[in-house]
This record gives sequence, structure tokens and C-alpha cells, in this order.
Amino acid sequence: MRDSQKSKVYKAETVFSVREDLSFVSIYECQIYADKVRASACWARYATRHPLYVEIVHWRGYSGLASYSGRTIKLGRRSMYRLLLLHELAHCGAPQGVRHGWQYCNLYLKLVCHFMGRAAWLKLRAAFKTNRVKVHPPRQQKRIEV
Ligand SMILES: [Zn+2]
Repeated sequence: MRDSQKSKVYKAETVFSVREDLSFVSIYECQIYADKVRASACWARYATRHPLYVEIVHWRGYSGLASYSGRTIKLGRRSMYRLLLLHELAHCGAPQGVRHGWQYCNLYLKLVCHFMGRAAWLKLRAAFKTNRVKVHPPRQQKRIEV
């Protein structure tokens, strides 16, 4: 499946600066945070997939990467901050294979709202709109009555 929203999501995220976000000092801290997110009512309600565990591991890559199974998130040294961790966790909780599709973006927004607050949610939602990121299912085509 084509991941047509990937670059739009990445572009939308640039409205956040890493410095204004909460950074973690270690993989262990990221793990604690990820466990907290997965134990939340927000996750229980909005995640489609509920992997038994999500292990956070360090890697040499620059950014973050969630495995296809949703059980592992690799984080580089410069990607240990809240927005990026929520981004990767949303991959673990969204239906397998949707990549950055609307189901993923919908969950991502919910997590940002719950864990970063309303202001961050409004900011990301506006950036999604600007970049035409879809967060709802495509509307069914209206039938034209003749
Ligand atoms: Zn992603």
C-alpha cells in the first residue's frame, strides 16, 4: 500500500520544535513513558491494536522507527522526545499496515491531545489541515439523484 501521507505528516510535525517538547534522557525513561501511554484509558479506547508489550530500543539511526508488528520501537539519540515517541506509539496502536493513513493520524492526534494537552493538539491538528493530512475516513460519494 502506498504511504501517501508520510511526507505530509512529517512536514506537519515541523511546527513543533524539539526544544519546546519534553525530552527523555534515556531509553529507560522512554520505556516508562511508553508503558504509561499503553496503560491509559485513551489507549484502551482509541488504539485498534494492543500489543502485549512494546519494547523501546536504542539504535544508531537518526530518527524513530516502529516495527511492523508494533512490538518494537527503535529510537535514535536525537529522537527521544515526547512527540516522536507518541508518533511511533501511534504506529503500534493503529491497524497493521495503514502506515500514515487516516486511522493512524486519528490515533496520533488523540494521543497528542491526551498526553501533551489541548494546545499541542490544536497546533498539530491545524498543521495537519494545512498539509492536507486526512484524519477521517474518506466520505462516501454522494449519489446523484436524477
Ligand atoms: Zn511514522
